[in-house]
Amino acid sequence: MPDRGRKDLDPMIGLEIHVQLTNSPTKLFCQCKAEYRQYPPNTNICPVCLGMPGALPVVQLVPLIYAVAASYALGCKPNPMIIFTRKHYYYPDLPKNYQITEFEGAHGAPVCKDGVFRYLDPNTWEWKSVRIRRINLEEDPGRSTYDKGGITRSPFVHVDYNRSGVPLLEIVTEPDLRSPREARALVEYLLLTLEYMGVMNPRLEGAFRVDSNISVGGGERVEVKNIGSTLDVEKAIRYEILRQSKIIETGGVVTRETRHWDGVKGITVPLRHKEEEEEYLYFPDPDLPPVPITPRIKRQAAELLRLTPADVYRKITGYGVKREIAWSITLVPALAKLYLRTVSLAKDKILAAKLVGVDLKGELKEKGIEHPSENLLPKPETIARLVNMVIDKELPYDTVKGIVIPRILDNPNSTLDQVIPKKASISEDLLIKILKENRRAVCDYLQGKKKALNYLVGVVIRTLGKVAVDPRELRNIIEKTILDNKEYFCENNSVTKP
Ligand SMILES: [Zn+2]
Repeated sequence: MPDRGRKDLDPMIGLEIHVQLTNSPTKLFCQCKAEYRQYPPNTNICPVCLGMPGALPVVQLVPLIYAVAASYALGCKPNPMIIFTRKHYYYPDLPKNYQITEFEGAHGAPVCKDGVFRYLDPNTWEWKSVRIRRINLEEDPGRSTYDKGGITRSPFVHVDYNRSGVPLLEIVTEPDLRSPREARALVEYLLLTLEYMGVMNPRLEGAFRVDSNISVGGGERVEVKNIGSTLDVEKAIRYEILRQSKIIETGGVVTRETRHWDGVKGITVPLRHKEEEEEYLYFPDPDLPPVPITPRIKRQAAELLRLTPADVYRKITGYGVKREIAWSITLVPALAKLYLRTVSLAKDKILAAKLVGVDLKGELKEKGIEHPSENLLPKPETIARLVNMVIDKELPYDTVKGIVIPRILDNPNSTLDQVIPKKASISEDLLIKILKENRRAVCDYLQGKKKALNYLVGVVIRTLGKVAVDPRELRNIIEKTILDNKEYFCENNSVTKP
């Protein structure tokens, strides 16, 4: 709501986005799996990720390559060297009593710093920029769960170390964001970028968490922790802006603190007063020598950037496709790959985009599949042939959309001959015989009950047996036959034209 009096309350929003590198084959410092979700508790572990005395961490190559690739993708230049430090704190899910990260204040060196990331905000269709302060590569702690009643009531806490040591990127932005929707758009675009690189799957439970620093009217900033979905990024920030604005408008002062987002209640609650960095007793990790970012690591990282959401979106809109459809395709990497392979074979790139980004995507959504694997999708040759048949007027577009695409998705291996409806062919004598046998429905139809025609189409299809005909075409034939011969079917003179 525009309100001149509120102008000086403009919010400043910065984010800390924690992203698991879920596609890494290993954890950060040992060879246990990064994808821990499939294992029973405490089975994806070893002495290193359990923090056993004497166990030594060894930096694994793939998470390192992924982290360097992320720094390129987010508009940063990787540091020549990564230097790890220890961040000390006690918590049951952290058996070493310290987390390995890279704190510059204790002579650590993060993966990169000072970049500018460009992202598309689909609320306004503008390309926007956010400054990236730094990207850290660190280890995820284990996982604590509580019995019924939650943290306050449960008599026990269960600790599962399967997640302990999973490689995590901490991406810190400058407070350049101005609205909750903008913040959400940034997080969504950033996750999509990482998904295109193949380093993570943002839809896995717990694959990312967001903390947000929010200040209003130049006041103290408040950190909101524990935001677990992109929708909650928007909700939590909106709530916090409103809370702080109310304090300021009633003459109060916002105090610097850390708050916790309660997604169920939709509110932020006080967690603690912000601790100072000294309290963590950071120092360089004596077990880990500095890690040089070699030309080979850089080369392997650059290879992960072959396809970005920006490239895909610009390419598709470059074909003259509407931005909404182009974005709809870009949002699903499997559909984007299908489309980009289809366009070289199809006679009409705009129609191909509609088939993939609207019709196919819509049909997948009906089936509850928002992110299909490639083997669930038709082949590019199939989509291209359908486009060409529509352009050459061999097949109506409505038939492709309403019949062919649903049938292909039911069985992606079927050939087009199996799914394209045959030309309806039925002798007039047979049709009139069927219609006479169903005189009642014909009369109903002639008296204005349109649904009776659907019944008749069903009867004719059953009589024809297992031939895949186009019901729409058949419907037209039946309708014409009835109207041409209406005096045979209905003796009632008060026939109204349907
Ligand atoms: Zn391990």
